[in-house]
Amino acid sequence: NHYTKRDILKMVEEEDVGFIRLQFTDIFGMMKNVAITTSQLKKALDNQIMFDGSSIEGFARIEDSDMYLYPDLDTFAIFPWRPQQGKVARLICDVYKPDGTVFESDPRYILKKVLSEAKAMGYDFNVGPECEFFLFHTDEDGRPTTLSHESATYFDLGPLDLGENARRDMVLTLEDMGFVIEASHHEVAPAQHEIDFQYGEALKTADNIMTFKLVVKTIAKRHGLHATFMPKPKYGVSGSGMHINMSLARDGINAFSDGEDERGLSREAYYFIGGIMRHMKAISFITNPIVNSYKRLVPGYEAPVYIAWSAKNRTPLLRIPAARGLGARVELRSPDPSANPYLALAVCLAAGLDGIRNEIAPPKSIDCNIFEMTDEQRKSAQIEALPASLREAAAEFAKDEYIQAVLGEDLSRKYIQAKEKEYAQYRTQVTDWEIGRYLHRM
Ligand code: GLN
Ligand code: MG
Ligand code: MG
Ligand code: MG
Repeated sequence: NHYTKRDILKMVEEEDVGFIRLQFTDIFGMMKNVAITTSQLKKALDNQIMFDGSSIEGFARIEDSDMYLYPDLDTFAIFPWRPQQGKVARLICDVYKPDGTVFESDPRYILKKVLSEAKAMGYDFNVGPECEFFLFHTDEDGRPTTLSHESATYFDLGPLDLGENARRDMVLTLEDMGFVIEASHHEVAPAQHEIDFQYGEALKTADNIMTFKLVVKTIAKRHGLHATFMPKPKYGVSGSGMHINMSLARDGINAFSDGEDERGLSREAYYFIGGIMRHMKAISFITNPIVNSYKRLVPGYEAPVYIAWSAKNRTPLLRIPAARGLGARVELRSPDPSANPYLALAVCLAAGLDGIRNEIAPPKSIDCNIFEMTDEQRKSAQIEALPASLREAAAEFAKDEYIQAVLGEDLSRKYIQAKEKEYAQYRTQVTDWEIGRYLHRM
């Protein structure tokens, strides 16, 4: 949809919108918003709404803290779950400095910047995400738990449970907001779900991921449940991933497809894979950004551990789904839904473009089960592992100047600082596991 200011004013009037939320995303992927009433809408559409950037994590700057929100008019949407009189709408915004120039550490800007590099090479970037999440109970005080109503009945087929009803409601709400839902299903772990929406242009997809999380959390709450995108909320069962399916298009035609090739892939697709693999360890810092992310990337739960690709096999990091032609794409399986989607897509695309520019051929595909190989075999096949912790990922990121440059110096520095602090805090915790294991024996 392409909207003008006039269109927005008209829709707000006709639809009886009372509140407008001006949204943006901080560097750690948290959605932020300022609500305004219609009396302020003209001012907002003229990019005159100001906020104090110093209280947003990662936005604080030394020069001055005033920042401006420039609404992207095409993102106008009404929240279908709010009252039908005095409706609530939203606009997703870009962040600008008082001098009228863009704030370089705005994640949405960073994605746009890489997209325009791709455009200069003749490419559009298309992305389809697969978001997984858990639905848990809340306690008497409304606080989230990791308990679920499903734990006892998971293997039963068919019974209607709260999770299923909630999921259906989420799908319908997303459809009301213009999402095309391709699939929704129960995932492997009890209380774990997945909803897949149609792929699209990357900026829109990143916006959609933010909206998706808001809808899922909001609707879960209406069903008395807590939806979490935490990557590994429970020991011993699958974690939640956010696989991302990527392809480049040139003049509207899928540039990853080549009918002549044995796997149906073009040279660009292979180089794209090569670029991702080269930068994968640094990328992990962005696609798997929290301490808990690394508890998901372990053997046994369909999550990747090693840096490898395959067209035959589901276990590796990068997979080529069976679809050919229009649907030709590369699926990256390590990202999790705690990632900032703008930054995650920006670094993946940038790595892929680096592969294309420098013709980085990927290593041989690994078509056997990597987990069944011995360490020796993996070593001789030159298969490396993903970072095993946030700390390792931070160190890899600090070594990869190309990926740092994508995010810019300011954001890279703030991000590393924040994550080092997070890891340091984590490292000194005394966990239940330690108490259980050592207290009575030592
Ligand atoms: N939950 C798995 C993960 O952590 C993925 C399972 C699947 O979709 N095949 O990535
Ligand atoms: Mg899936
Ligand atoms: Mg899945
Ligand atoms: Mg998948």
